[in-house]
Amino acid sequence: MVIVIGIESTAHTFGIGVATDDGKILANVNETYTPPPGAGMHPREVAEHHVKVAGKVLRRALSEAEISIHDVDAVAFSQGPGLGPVLRVGATIARALAVRYGKPLVPVHHGVAHIEIAKLVTGLKDPLIVLISGGHTMVLAYSEGRYRVFGETLDISIGNCLDVFARELGLPMPGVPKVEELAGRGRRFVELPYTVVGQDLSYSGLLTRALQLLDKLRKGELKDLTIEDLCLSLVETAYYMLAEVTERALAATGKRELLITGGVARSRRLREIFQIIAEDFNTKLGIVSNEYAGDNGAMIAYTGALAYKYGITVPVEESVTRQRWRIDDVPVPWVEDLIRRKDI
Ligand code: AMP
Ligand code: MG
Repeated sequence: MVIVIGIESTAHTFGIGVATDDGKILANVNETYTPPPGAGMHPREVAEHHVKVAGKVLRRALSEAEISIHDVDAVAFSQGPGLGPVLRVGATIARALAVRYGKPLVPVHHGVAHIEIAKLVTGLKDPLIVLISGGHTMVLAYSEGRYRVFGETLDISIGNCLDVFARELGLPMPGVPKVEELAGRGRRFVELPYTVVGQDLSYSGLLTRALQLLDKLRKGELKDLTIEDLCLSLVETAYYMLAEVTERALAATGKRELLITGGVARSRRLREIFQIIAEDFNTKLGIVSNEYAGDNGAMIAYTGALAYKYGITVPVEESVTRQRWRIDDVPVPWVEDLIRRKDI
Protein backbone atom coordinates (compact mmCIF):
# COMPACT_ATOMS: atom_id res chain seq x y z
CA MET A 1 0.00 0.00 0.00
CA VAL A 2 1.24 3.50 -0.77
CA ILE A 3 0.19 6.86 0.70
CA VAL A 4 0.25 9.83 -1.63
CA ILE A 5 -0.39 13.52 -1.11
CA GLY A 6 -2.02 15.17 -4.12
CA ILE A 7 -2.30 18.82 -5.14
CA GLU A 8 -5.12 20.10 -7.36
CA SER A 9 -4.54 23.45 -9.05
CA THR A 10 -5.99 23.64 -12.56
CA ALA A 11 -8.74 26.25 -12.21
CA HIS A 12 -10.86 27.82 -9.45
CA THR A 13 -10.01 25.26 -6.75
CA PHE A 14 -6.79 24.77 -4.83
CA GLY A 15 -7.02 21.45 -3.04
CA ILE A 16 -4.80 19.00 -1.24
CA GLY A 17 -5.78 15.42 -0.52
CA VAL A 18 -4.13 12.40 0.98
CA ALA A 19 -5.08 8.92 -0.25
CA THR A 20 -3.90 5.34 -0.54
CA ASP A 21 -3.86 3.25 -3.71
CA ASP A 22 -6.47 0.91 -2.21
CA GLY A 23 -8.93 3.76 -2.05
CA LYS A 24 -8.80 5.23 1.43
CA ILE A 25 -9.24 8.98 1.37
CA LEU A 26 -7.41 10.29 4.42
CA ALA A 27 -7.85 14.00 3.71
CA ASN A 28 -9.62 16.26 1.25
CA VAL A 29 -9.19 19.99 1.85
CA ASN A 30 -10.21 22.49 -0.81
CA GLU A 31 -10.45 26.27 -1.19
CA THR A 32 -12.31 27.68 -4.18
CA TYR A 33 -11.82 31.13 -5.67
CA THR A 34 -15.08 32.88 -6.50
CA PRO A 35 -14.98 35.98 -8.66
CA PRO A 36 -17.35 38.86 -7.79
CA PRO A 37 -20.83 38.44 -9.39
CA GLY A 38 -20.82 39.37 -13.06
CA ALA A 39 -17.03 39.07 -13.38
CA GLY A 40 -15.05 36.35 -15.12
CA MET A 41 -12.17 34.33 -13.72
CA HIS A 42 -8.85 36.04 -14.33
CA PRO A 43 -6.05 33.43 -14.27
CA ARG A 44 -3.64 35.76 -12.47
CA GLU A 45 -6.14 36.51 -9.71
CA VAL A 46 -6.93 32.81 -9.30
CA ALA A 47 -3.20 32.06 -9.08
CA GLU A 48 -2.78 34.74 -6.38
CA HIS A 49 -5.66 33.22 -4.43
CA HIS A 50 -4.07 29.77 -4.60
CA VAL A 51 -0.71 31.08 -3.41
CA LYS A 52 -2.43 32.74 -0.46
CA VAL A 53 -4.36 29.67 0.70
CA ALA A 54 -1.73 27.00 -0.08
CA GLY A 55 0.04 26.94 3.30
CA LYS A 56 -3.21 26.74 5.25
CA VAL A 57 -4.63 24.00 2.97
CA LEU A 58 -1.45 21.93 3.31
CA ARG A 59 -1.44 22.15 7.11
CA ARG A 60 -5.14 21.25 7.31
CA ALA A 61 -4.74 18.30 4.92
CA LEU A 62 -1.85 16.82 6.91
CA SER A 63 -3.66 17.29 10.21
CA GLU A 64 -6.90 15.78 8.81
CA ALA A 65 -4.93 12.76 7.57
CA GLU A 66 -3.07 12.62 10.89
CA ILE A 67 0.26 12.16 9.17
CA SER A 68 3.47 14.08 8.71
CA ILE A 69 4.78 14.90 5.27
CA HIS A 70 7.61 12.42 5.99
CA ASP A 71 5.03 9.59 5.99
CA VAL A 72 3.93 9.98 2.37
CA ASP A 73 5.46 7.82 -0.36
CA ALA A 74 5.07 10.37 -3.14
CA VAL A 75 3.80 13.82 -4.06
CA ALA A 76 1.24 13.99 -6.89
CA PHE A 77 0.04 17.10 -8.69
CA SER A 78 -2.40 17.98 -11.46
CA GLN A 79 -0.03 18.56 -14.36
CA GLY A 80 -2.84 19.63 -16.72
CA PRO A 81 -4.95 20.53 -18.51
CA GLY A 82 -5.83 23.91 -17.05
CA LEU A 83 -4.96 27.59 -16.81
CA GLY A 84 -1.19 28.15 -17.16
CA PRO A 85 -0.53 30.51 -14.22
CA VAL A 86 -2.82 28.46 -11.97
CA LEU A 87 -1.25 25.11 -12.90
CA ARG A 88 2.16 26.53 -12.09
CA VAL A 89 1.18 27.31 -8.48
CA GLY A 90 0.31 23.68 -7.69
CA ALA A 91 3.27 22.32 -9.65
CA THR A 92 5.73 24.61 -7.89
CA ILE A 93 4.49 23.59 -4.45
CA ALA A 94 4.58 19.90 -5.42
CA ARG A 95 8.16 20.20 -6.71
CA ALA A 96 9.25 22.05 -3.57
CA LEU A 97 7.78 19.33 -1.33
CA ALA A 98 9.30 16.56 -3.46
CA VAL A 99 12.77 18.09 -3.40
CA ARG A 100 12.72 19.21 0.24
CA TYR A 101 11.51 15.84 1.58
CA GLY A 102 13.12 13.57 -1.02
CA LYS A 103 9.84 12.19 -2.42
CA PRO A 104 9.08 11.07 -5.98
CA LEU A 105 6.89 13.42 -8.03
CA VAL A 106 3.84 11.92 -9.76
CA PRO A 107 2.11 13.73 -12.65
CA VAL A 108 -1.69 13.38 -12.77
CA HIS A 109 -4.10 14.27 -15.57
CA HIS A 110 -6.98 16.24 -14.07
CA GLY A 111 -9.63 14.53 -16.23
CA VAL A 112 -8.35 11.04 -15.42
CA ALA A 113 -8.55 11.99 -11.73
CA HIS A 114 -12.24 12.99 -12.10
CA ILE A 115 -12.84 9.51 -13.55
CA GLU A 116 -10.86 7.48 -11.00
CA ILE A 117 -12.42 9.14 -7.95
CA ALA A 118 -15.89 8.60 -9.43
CA LYS A 119 -15.18 4.91 -10.11
CA LEU A 120 -13.95 4.59 -6.52
CA VAL A 121 -17.04 6.11 -4.89
CA THR A 122 -19.61 4.45 -7.18
CA GLY A 123 -17.94 1.03 -7.40
CA LEU A 124 -18.31 0.97 -11.19
CA LYS A 125 -15.44 -0.78 -12.96
CA ASP A 126 -15.65 -0.46 -16.70
CA PRO A 127 -18.25 2.21 -17.48
CA LEU A 128 -19.05 4.53 -20.32
CA ILE A 129 -17.98 7.83 -18.80
CA VAL A 130 -19.56 11.26 -19.12
CA LEU A 131 -16.99 13.80 -17.90
CA ILE A 132 -18.66 17.16 -17.38
CA SER A 133 -16.47 19.55 -15.45
CA GLY A 134 -15.74 23.25 -15.83
CA GLY A 135 -13.22 22.42 -18.55
CA HIS A 136 -14.37 19.08 -20.00
CA THR A 137 -17.40 17.83 -21.88
CA MET A 138 -16.49 14.34 -23.03
CA VAL A 139 -17.86 10.87 -23.43
CA LEU A 140 -15.18 8.23 -22.88
CA ALA A 141 -14.56 4.56 -22.32
CA TYR A 142 -11.51 2.54 -21.40
CA SER A 143 -9.92 0.45 -24.10
CA GLU A 144 -6.41 -0.96 -24.41
CA GLY A 145 -4.47 1.12 -21.93
CA ARG A 146 -6.20 4.47 -22.42
CA TYR A 147 -9.45 6.30 -21.84
CA ARG A 148 -10.68 6.73 -25.41
CA VAL A 149 -12.88 9.63 -26.45
CA PHE A 150 -16.28 8.74 -27.94
CA GLY A 151 -17.45 12.31 -28.38
CA GLU A 152 -16.49 15.71 -27.02
CA THR A 153 -17.17 19.40 -27.35
CA LEU A 154 -15.38 21.09 -30.22
CA ASP A 155 -15.35 24.43 -28.42
CA ILE A 156 -16.53 25.40 -24.93
CA SER A 157 -17.68 22.99 -22.21
CA ILE A 158 -21.31 22.56 -21.21
CA GLY A 159 -20.50 24.03 -17.77
CA ASN A 160 -18.77 27.02 -19.29
CA CYS A 161 -21.72 27.62 -21.64
CA LEU A 162 -24.18 27.85 -18.74
CA ASP A 163 -21.72 29.68 -16.44
CA VAL A 164 -21.19 32.45 -19.02
CA PHE A 165 -24.94 32.79 -19.48
CA ALA A 166 -25.37 32.96 -15.69
CA ARG A 167 -22.72 35.66 -15.52
CA GLU A 168 -24.55 37.72 -18.14
CA LEU A 169 -27.66 37.42 -15.97
CA GLY A 170 -25.60 38.75 -13.04
CA LEU A 171 -25.92 35.46 -11.13
CA PRO A 172 -23.18 34.32 -8.75
CA MET A 173 -20.98 31.31 -9.50
CA PRO A 174 -21.40 28.37 -9.76
CA GLY A 175 -23.72 29.30 -12.60
CA VAL A 176 -25.16 25.95 -13.69
CA PRO A 177 -27.48 25.37 -10.69
CA LYS A 178 -28.62 29.02 -10.82
CA VAL A 179 -29.60 28.78 -14.51
CA GLU A 180 -31.31 25.44 -13.81
CA GLU A 181 -33.30 27.03 -11.00
CA LEU A 182 -34.65 29.71 -13.37
CA ALA A 183 -35.23 27.04 -16.04
CA GLY A 184 -37.47 25.21 -13.56
CA ARG A 185 -39.88 28.15 -13.75
CA GLY A 186 -39.83 28.35 -17.56
CA ARG A 187 -43.04 27.64 -19.51
CA ARG A 188 -42.16 28.00 -23.15
CA PHE A 189 -39.44 26.30 -25.21
CA VAL A 190 -37.82 28.21 -28.05
CA GLU A 191 -35.66 26.47 -30.59
CA LEU A 192 -31.93 27.20 -30.21
CA PRO A 193 -28.93 25.91 -32.22
CA TYR A 194 -28.62 22.17 -31.56
CA THR A 195 -25.16 21.23 -32.85
CA VAL A 196 -24.15 17.59 -32.83
CA VAL A 197 -21.62 16.66 -35.51
CA GLY A 198 -21.12 12.91 -35.62
CA GLN A 199 -20.28 12.21 -31.99
CA ASP A 200 -19.01 15.71 -31.25
CA LEU A 201 -20.78 18.70 -29.75
CA SER A 202 -20.57 22.45 -30.16
CA TYR A 203 -21.86 24.79 -27.48
CA SER A 204 -20.56 28.17 -28.63
CA GLY A 205 -23.31 28.75 -31.23
CA LEU A 206 -25.94 27.84 -28.67
CA LEU A 207 -24.48 30.29 -26.16
CA THR A 208 -24.18 33.10 -28.72
CA ARG A 209 -27.81 32.68 -29.76
CA ALA A 210 -29.03 32.56 -26.17
CA LEU A 211 -27.10 35.76 -25.39
CA GLN A 212 -28.56 37.46 -28.49
CA LEU A 213 -32.09 36.55 -27.40
CA LEU A 214 -31.34 37.77 -23.86
CA ASP A 215 -30.26 41.09 -25.30
CA LYS A 216 -33.46 41.39 -27.36
CA LEU A 217 -35.56 40.35 -24.41
CA ARG A 218 -34.01 43.06 -22.25
CA LYS A 219 -34.68 45.66 -24.93
CA GLY A 220 -38.33 44.61 -24.89
CA GLU A 221 -38.19 43.22 -28.42
CA LEU A 222 -39.46 39.77 -27.43
CA LYS A 223 -42.86 40.14 -25.88
CA ASP A 224 -43.88 36.54 -25.23
CA LEU A 225 -40.55 35.18 -23.96
CA THR A 226 -39.29 35.36 -20.36
CA ILE A 227 -35.80 34.92 -18.96
CA GLU A 228 -37.03 31.71 -17.36
CA ASP A 229 -38.20 30.44 -20.79
CA LEU A 230 -34.82 31.24 -22.23
CA CYS A 231 -33.04 29.38 -19.40
CA LEU A 232 -35.34 26.40 -19.92
CA SER A 233 -34.59 26.32 -23.64
CA LEU A 234 -30.84 26.70 -23.11
CA VAL A 235 -30.61 24.01 -20.43
CA GLU A 236 -32.78 21.48 -22.26
CA THR A 237 -30.98 22.00 -25.59
CA ALA A 238 -27.53 21.74 -24.01
CA TYR A 239 -28.43 18.62 -22.04
CA TYR A 240 -30.22 16.80 -24.84
CA MET A 241 -27.23 17.26 -27.13
CA LEU A 242 -25.14 15.48 -24.50
CA ALA A 243 -27.83 12.82 -24.01
CA GLU A 244 -27.92 12.02 -27.73
CA VAL A 245 -24.15 11.48 -27.89
CA THR A 246 -24.20 9.42 -24.67
CA GLU A 247 -26.92 7.11 -25.98
CA ARG A 248 -25.07 6.47 -29.23
CA ALA A 249 -21.82 5.79 -27.38
CA LEU A 250 -23.60 3.31 -25.09
CA ALA A 251 -25.01 1.52 -28.12
CA ALA A 252 -21.65 1.50 -29.93
CA THR A 253 -19.45 0.42 -27.01
CA GLY A 254 -21.92 -1.99 -25.41
CA LYS A 255 -20.79 -0.88 -21.92
CA ARG A 256 -23.13 -2.06 -19.15
CA GLU A 257 -22.30 0.78 -16.74
CA LEU A 258 -22.70 4.55 -17.06
CA LEU A 259 -20.59 6.89 -14.92
CA ILE A 260 -21.20 10.63 -14.55
CA THR A 261 -18.39 12.73 -13.12
CA GLY A 262 -17.12 16.33 -12.88
CA GLY A 263 -18.64 19.42 -11.30
CA VAL A 264 -21.73 19.43 -13.52
CA ALA A 265 -22.54 15.86 -12.36
CA ARG A 266 -24.28 17.64 -9.45
CA SER A 267 -26.93 18.89 -11.87
CA ARG A 268 -30.42 17.83 -10.76
CA ARG A 269 -31.84 17.93 -14.28
CA LEU A 270 -28.97 15.98 -15.84
CA ARG A 271 -29.35 13.31 -13.17
CA GLU A 272 -32.98 12.84 -14.24
CA ILE A 273 -31.97 12.59 -17.89
CA PHE A 274 -29.18 10.06 -17.23
CA GLN A 275 -31.56 8.03 -15.07
CA ILE A 276 -33.90 7.68 -18.04
CA ILE A 277 -31.04 6.74 -20.38
CA ALA A 278 -29.76 4.12 -17.92
CA GLU A 279 -33.23 2.56 -17.67
CA ASP A 280 -33.67 2.53 -21.45
CA PHE A 281 -30.32 0.83 -21.94
CA ASN A 282 -30.63 -1.44 -18.90
CA THR A 283 -27.36 0.03 -17.68
CA LYS A 284 -26.10 0.52 -14.15
CA LEU A 285 -25.87 4.25 -13.40
CA GLY A 286 -23.22 5.70 -11.07
CA ILE A 287 -23.01 9.40 -10.27
CA VAL A 288 -20.07 10.78 -8.35
CA SER A 289 -21.02 12.09 -4.89
CA ASN A 290 -21.22 15.86 -4.46
CA GLU A 291 -18.11 15.93 -2.29
CA TYR A 292 -15.96 14.60 -5.13
CA ALA A 293 -17.87 16.08 -8.09
CA GLY A 294 -16.05 19.39 -8.32
CA ASP A 295 -12.28 19.77 -8.49
CA ASN A 296 -10.68 18.41 -5.34
CA GLY A 297 -7.34 17.36 -3.90
CA ALA A 298 -8.44 13.83 -2.99
CA MET A 299 -8.93 12.83 -6.63
CA ILE A 300 -5.35 13.86 -7.43
CA ALA A 301 -4.00 12.02 -4.38
CA TYR A 302 -5.92 8.81 -5.17
CA THR A 303 -5.06 8.83 -8.89
CA GLY A 304 -1.48 9.72 -7.97
CA ALA A 305 -1.38 6.69 -5.66
CA LEU A 306 -2.60 4.40 -8.46
CA ALA A 307 -0.08 5.89 -10.90
CA TYR A 308 2.79 5.69 -8.41
CA LYS A 309 1.98 2.05 -7.69
CA TYR A 310 2.40 1.41 -11.42
CA GLY A 311 5.74 3.19 -11.57
CA ILE A 312 4.67 6.54 -13.00
CA THR A 313 6.88 9.41 -11.79
CA VAL A 314 8.47 12.44 -13.41
CA PRO A 315 11.88 14.00 -12.71
CA VAL A 316 11.48 17.51 -11.27
CA GLU A 317 13.37 19.09 -14.17
CA GLU A 318 10.94 17.53 -16.68
CA SER A 319 7.77 18.31 -14.77
CA VAL A 320 6.53 21.25 -16.84
CA THR A 321 2.78 21.77 -16.74
CA ARG A 322 0.64 20.78 -19.73
CA GLN A 323 -2.11 23.28 -20.40
CA ARG A 324 -3.60 21.28 -23.25
CA TRP A 325 -2.82 17.71 -22.22
CA ARG A 326 -5.22 15.34 -24.03
CA ILE A 327 -6.80 12.63 -21.95
CA ASP A 328 -6.30 9.96 -24.62
CA ASP A 329 -2.53 10.61 -24.51
CA VAL A 330 -2.36 9.46 -20.88
CA PRO A 331 -1.32 5.85 -20.12
CA VAL A 332 -3.52 4.39 -17.34
CA PRO A 333 -1.87 1.00 -16.67
CA TRP A 334 -3.81 0.37 -13.44
CA VAL A 335 -7.26 0.34 -15.03
CA GLU A 336 -7.06 -3.21 -16.41
CA ASP A 337 -6.33 -4.56 -12.91
CA LEU A 338 -9.11 -2.48 -11.31
CA ILE A 339 -11.59 -3.93 -13.82
CA ARG A 340 -10.57 -7.45 -12.86
CA ARG A 341 -10.43 -6.82 -9.11
CA LYS A 342 -13.50 -8.12 -7.31
CA ASP A 343 -12.96 -6.81 -3.79
CA ILE A 344 -14.01 -3.18 -4.28
P1 AMP B 1 -15.38 21.56 -11.87
O1 AMP B 1 -14.51 22.32 -12.83
O2 AMP B 1 -15.29 20.08 -12.07
O3 AMP B 1 -15.20 21.97 -10.43
O4 AMP B 1 -16.88 21.94 -12.26
C1 AMP B 1 -17.32 23.26 -12.30
C2 AMP B 1 -18.68 23.30 -12.98
O5 AMP B 1 -19.67 22.66 -12.17
C3 AMP B 1 -19.17 24.71 -13.22
O6 AMP B 1 -19.64 24.80 -14.56
C4 AMP B 1 -20.32 24.87 -12.21
O7 AMP B 1 -21.32 25.76 -12.63
C5 AMP B 1 -20.84 23.45 -12.13
N1 AMP B 1 -21.61 23.20 -10.89
C6 AMP B 1 -21.24 23.49 -9.63
N2 AMP B 1 -22.22 23.15 -8.76
C7 AMP B 1 -23.24 22.63 -9.50
C8 AMP B 1 -24.55 22.09 -9.20
N3 AMP B 1 -25.02 22.04 -7.96
N4 AMP B 1 -25.31 21.66 -10.25
C9 AMP B 1 -24.84 21.72 -11.50
N5 AMP B 1 -23.63 22.20 -11.84
C10 AMP B 1 -22.83 22.65 -10.87
MG1 MG C 1 -12.52 19.75 -13.13
